[in-house]
Amino acid sequence: MRALRAADPWFDFSEWRKVVDSVRRSVESKQTSELIDIVRKSDKYEVVRAGKLIEIRDTELGWLRHGWVYPSLVNLYRRCARQLYIEVSRITDGKPLLVTRPQLEAMVRGILVHEEWRKRFAIGETEVELVSEALKVRGVADEVARSVGLVVEVKSGYGFDDVAVAVQAKLYAIMAEEMGLMDAVAARVVSPRGVFEPALRSDLAASYVQRVRIVIEDALNNREPPPRLSPSVRSRCETCPYRLKDCATLKSAGTIFDWLESRGFQVRRPQRTLLSYTSSSS
Ligand code: SF4
Repeated sequence: MRALRAADPWFDFSEWRKVVDSVRRSVESKQTSELIDIVRKSDKYEVVRAGKLIEIRDTELGWLRHGWVYPSLVNLYRRCARQLYIEVSRITDGKPLLVTRPQLEAMVRGILVHEEWRKRFAIGETEVELVSEALKVRGVADEVARSVGLVVEVKSGYGFDDVAVAVQAKLYAIMAEEMGLMDAVAARVVSPRGVFEPALRSDLAASYVQRVRIVIEDALNNREPPPRLSPSVRSRCETCPYRLKDCATLKSAGTIFDWLESRGFQVRRPQRTLLSYTSSSS
């Protein structure tokens, strides 16, 4: 699926990329304790304990308990629905989330890059709280630039999931439109890879909200969790902080397609291999 298409930047993109690359190099060179200090100073996270895995609380996710979905959770859903289930369960049980050193670097990069965006590149209002009563979605847009009719989603890394980011940006545009903030709202994703606009329909974005909502509701109601990742993408488990803890102790059956179908979604399953190998010795 092509979820993003290139868009013309309205700011100095090469300068922006230099800033992001310089932040990345600086973050990679820091000690874990220095990274934790930066996280501690941000409003977004509270550091509970610093060990091999860092324990944090995300202070912006309190509305989960009341059935609201945050656009940023689409990314976690796309990485692993089971991990989303685990994190929601932890939040509602009052337990901290677990973070590895690479995740800590990504968090700090996000904090510092967003600071730079606000100080040097934004032309509109930053950190704008948006809500859609119709979709029961809420979140904080990085920027709402009314003068050019844009909501802006800033990405601090190169390795993001195009679909998750497109859904996220599209949802911010839907929310800004529903709130009547601008006459015509377009979304832009600003990343070191380039500037993109989401190329997906509103109903597809809404369908992702529904998937995320079902995982959240299942976690809140202690229903069966989504299955483990399929073998083709299980390499993601190697970097998951819950691999040896929560994930190992939860029940697991079937595939994500079985799980989605059991929740009423029609899914297109990937085709099994069409050609099977036969040897042709002669
Ligand atoms: S270990 Fe793998 S399957 Fe389990 S929650 Fe983490 S990413 Fe998902």
